[in-house]
Amino acid sequence: MCGIVGFSSHSQSACRPLVNGLLRLEYRGYDSAGVALESADDLRVFKKTGKVAELDRFLAEALPEPERGKYTLGIAHTRWATHGLPTETNAHPHLADGGRLALVHNGIIENYAALRAKLEKRGCVFVSQTDTEALAHLIATFDTGDDFMAAVSQALKQVEGTYGIAVLSLRHPGEMIVARRGSPLVIGVGEGSTVVASDVSAIVSYTRQVIYLNDGDIARVTPEGADVFTLDNVPVARDVQQVEWDAASAEKGGYAHFMLKEIFEQPEALRNTIRGRLDRTDGTAVLAGLNLPPRELATIRRAVVIGCGTSLHAGMVGKYLFESLADLPTSAEQAAEFRYCNPIIGPHDWAIALSQSGETADTLAAVRESVGKGALVSAVCNVVGSTIAREAGRGVYLHAGPEISVASTKAFTAQVTVLLMMALKLGRTRRLSREAGLRLCDEIAALPDLVAEVLKENDRIAAVAAKYAAANDMFFLGRGILYPTALEGALKMKEISYVHAEGYQAAELKHGPIALLGRATPVVALLNDVPGKEKTVGNVQECRAREAPVVGIVTQGDAAARHCDDALFVPRTSAACAPVVTAVALQLFAYHVARLRGCEIDQPRNLAKSVTVE
Ligand code: GLU
Repeated sequence: MCGIVGFSSHSQSACRPLVNGLLRLEYRGYDSAGVALESADDLRVFKKTGKVAELDRFLAEALPEPERGKYTLGIAHTRWATHGLPTETNAHPHLADGGRLALVHNGIIENYAALRAKLEKRGCVFVSQTDTEALAHLIATFDTGDDFMAAVSQALKQVEGTYGIAVLSLRHPGEMIVARRGSPLVIGVGEGSTVVASDVSAIVSYTRQVIYLNDGDIARVTPEGADVFTLDNVPVARDVQQVEWDAASAEKGGYAHFMLKEIFEQPEALRNTIRGRLDRTDGTAVLAGLNLPPRELATIRRAVVIGCGTSLHAGMVGKYLFESLADLPTSAEQAAEFRYCNPIIGPHDWAIALSQSGETADTLAAVRESVGKGALVSAVCNVVGSTIAREAGRGVYLHAGPEISVASTKAFTAQVTVLLMMALKLGRTRRLSREAGLRLCDEIAALPDLVAEVLKENDRIAAVAAKYAAANDMFFLGRGILYPTALEGALKMKEISYVHAEGYQAAELKHGPIALLGRATPVVALLNDVPGKEKTVGNVQECRAREAPVVGIVTQGDAAARHCDDALFVPRTSAACAPVVTAVALQLFAYHVARLRGCEIDQPRNLAKSVTVE
């Protein structure tokens, strides 16, 4: 999820290039950092929680200038915790083989618990709570001192999940092995030195000659470059390419803004959110962190989903999901309102706190209030080890990867996906049949590909956005589960384009707001082909009768498009999954309107990423 840097040279110390590389990766957000440095006769590891600057200061003291010269090989990491709190012990590199082997890893090793149990039986001693440490020990058990790359390959064949790794071993001095599956890794070929990184932005200040590894590649890195193989030791040719990006555009992966990059990351983010969490035998979800066995789930009388902003909208989607799939009375509450309203909550009530950062002050206060009143409390956060996650004590992490754009995109779709899986699990303890559960599993598993379909519409969405970018006011209409999605669409529009946008239940418009409609007030109507569509079509007619232009979000191939001035197409889904694909189309629509209006998209005025004040 976060950053890897590696450096190999004949004569230059690896220290500075590694730290500089980590500094270039800081923009991604991280919680701790570390390096491993190898000389001909020793391997040393330095780790710190917090900023790379801390690690740099620590290194300057622990390894002053003349001494660093001999360490010409090294690997470094910024961690964005997925398994285990952000502590120094859990920071990478992780050691094995009595301190002779060091590993840095990005990604998630899904079968780490099984691997760990097996390795512990064989006598391996684990010091961290991470999934990564299991891989370090696994590689060591395959290493006979003969062929380092073969040992790493054998270990990787046993891994389920995703990885980008760099590994060193004193048994193989001067050798660095790197590999990837699902997490990026790039090799920069310089003059007399080779730099490896998870992101080309950490390389471009050294060299613009790079080799992009593909999934399934493993490479032996030397100061001269890298030899790339498959895990079965078949050599593969990977071209050296010239990077044209400067450091700033490299950070954004070539996208104009972090927001756009994160919108496009959603298929991958959702794959990570869903990974290992669907039980396709029993048709349910496996959410171990919830720590709620079916017997306890069955005692819950009511759920209260709590959040602010985008998280509140995801929570409102959750209300529809819990009620329709699990028959559980549910309310969605704005965290500050909840907390100051003497909330009636107690045992047998389930409070679910949603916060991307896990630090939202109002949501944290609501968590404390709920814990104090004896409710069952769960957190749904993206940042592992964040305050809300810790204080709730149980929950589900989004695993959506760091979100940098202030306007939230991938965290919203990941939150909704987690709520879908929670509703599935809850539903299966109540009224949902195994068959219905299996169907929902299939639908959830298909979401990443469906989102990728929406992303293909980007150019068309941009063209439609151009027609409406000059509007001063917009209305977003949705019905049922699509109502909170309409609110989220309006919020995205407000946040980044500063267009005054309001979301309404489709039926509510004629109870007042319709007085504002006219030629200058475009209406974005969520017309997905799910129950209730015909009624919303009726509401669209009411808008058009007032001359308001209508942009419809329409299911691919559906005739509802003819009721709209313009249509943005999304793939067919059930009602439960419709908010995810629809939100992505609305994110792109807001993005293009903001871009055409020349707005500061990644840092909108007056907004902060993590609202840690009340
Ligand atoms: N899953 C690993 C951990 O939690 C790696 C996280 C990362 O990619 O930064 O330590």
